[in-house]
Amino acid sequence: MASLPALAACGGQVRLTQPVEFSAQELAGFRAMAPLRVLPLDAPPMARHDPQDGYSGIGVDVWCFITERLGLRYEIIQRRDLSIAEKIRLVQEGQADVLLPLSANSERAARGIFTRPFYESHYAVIARKDWRPEIRGLADLAPYRVGVLKGVASESLLKTVMASDRLVVIDDVTSEALFQALRDGRIDLALFSKAVFEEKRYQHEYFDLTVVHTLHDAPRVYGFYFQPSPRNQQIVQAFDRYLAVLDISAAVAEHEDGERQFIQRYVIQRSWHLVVLTAGAGALVLVVVLAALLYRYRRLARLLAASNEHILQQQQALQAVNQELERQSQTDGLTGLANRRQFDHALLREHARQQRTAAPLSLLMVDLDHFKHVNDRYGHAIGDDYLRAVARVLKTSVNRATDLAARYGGEEFVCLLPETSATDAQMLAERIRQGVSSMALPNELASPPHLTLSIGVATLLGGKADAAQLLAQADEQLYAAKHAGRDRVHAVVLR
Ligand code: GH3
Ligand code: MG
Ligand code: MG
Repeated sequence: MASLPALAACGGQVRLTQPVEFSAQELAGFRAMAPLRVLPLDAPPMARHDPQDGYSGIGVDVWCFITERLGLRYEIIQRRDLSIAEKIRLVQEGQADVLLPLSANSERAARGIFTRPFYESHYAVIARKDWRPEIRGLADLAPYRVGVLKGVASESLLKTVMASDRLVVIDDVTSEALFQALRDGRIDLALFSKAVFEEKRYQHEYFDLTVVHTLHDAPRVYGFYFQPSPRNQQIVQAFDRYLAVLDISAAVAEHEDGERQFIQRYVIQRSWHLVVLTAGAGALVLVVVLAALLYRYRRLARLLAASNEHILQQQQALQAVNQELERQSQTDGLTGLANRRQFDHALLREHARQQRTAAPLSLLMVDLDHFKHVNDRYGHAIGDDYLRAVARVLKTSVNRATDLAARYGGEEFVCLLPETSATDAQMLAERIRQGVSSMALPNELASPPHLTLSIGVATLLGGKADAAQLLAQADEQLYAAKHAGRDRVHAVVLR
């Protein structure tokens, strides 16, 4: 029979105080019997079900001890889907042989056979925690709606003290329905085995329920409940001989302690649950913090990028301003030509190049004729217009990339012409002179009576003349042109 796996730690804690003798013939009779069909009840500490270990408890220990000695075979019928009332009925109708264990009452005894009792427990009156009625005995239950599970022994007990309309019989497989009725307020009080409730309380977390009274005046005695048959009658008699002399104190201690262990296990399990929850919450907080940091980091990175972009723009603007300043520092404000500063640099640079390459370097020195009179006659503003007009002529005439036209100061201009021969330089000077003359800007003092200019040209072909000497030579030619009557070009070649 595959019975043992369903019973855990079978029979360990039970011993005999006196020997019990059976004849070999009697024992052979027990061994020959068909296996007993055992229906365990879920009633700790007598029988407690564990999904892994199967059934254990005081009743299981006693059962194992006796059946082993008698040589009785049995099988466990797992019917956790049945209510206690249905299990009792199965035994009474002969579909099972024995209930392990059941508390005795006269009604049950009339329809089955109880062994001697081996354990005593009490009824507990259970209420919701927020309400404490004054219950001192069974009679005090009368005014309340009291619930019991269908088929339990207390049902008949309650009928003796209260009106049947207040007695609520819950017909369900498990005791959970009874406690749910209490929570829902469908009943005021529940009557239930104290020992069983204490453990179920933890199993199902009935922490909102409490024992308000223990009915010590109505003890429940537990034995094995057999289907009434001659064979079972014989077995019950044999059980009773053992039960009369059994010492089960160690089993009681162990299984009542088992309840404590169960509660301890529960507490540890809940503590772990709490630790896991706390760790989970901690991890969640960490994730949120990291996400916030990441978000902040991204925001900062965006700000940084924007600020970098801004800085870059500022740098570019600053560069443009600097370039403009640089250009302005090299440019004459009135005419837009190069200024004296730029010219001086260019003259030194091109003179040095001329000294290296010996290519001709020409220089034009330009001065407006009788310009003082223009200012005196037409005013400075017109005089400035004349200067700008002359500058335009210079710009269009001096147009090679390496040429440079500059305002030397006042109404004097210079043209630096690298790699330009004396002939080409004089031709260019002539073109400038004619260009200005042909604009015919009025100037009565001049003859003809419009704006003219004089130009001195100096070309350095070879020789050791320095930049200042080249400039001085051009100036000298200008002076000569003025002296010769103005509106003309005078030139010299330095070899
Ligand atoms: P010359 O033919 O001998 O050169 O006679 P000039 O009157 O031109 O004499 P000079 O070259 O000495 O003239 C300088 C004059 O040029 C003085 C000043 O009135 C005028 N001038 C110098 N710079 C400016 C300027 O920026 N604007 C104006 N309107 N006049 C200027
Ligand atoms: Mg002058
Ligand atoms: Mg002049």
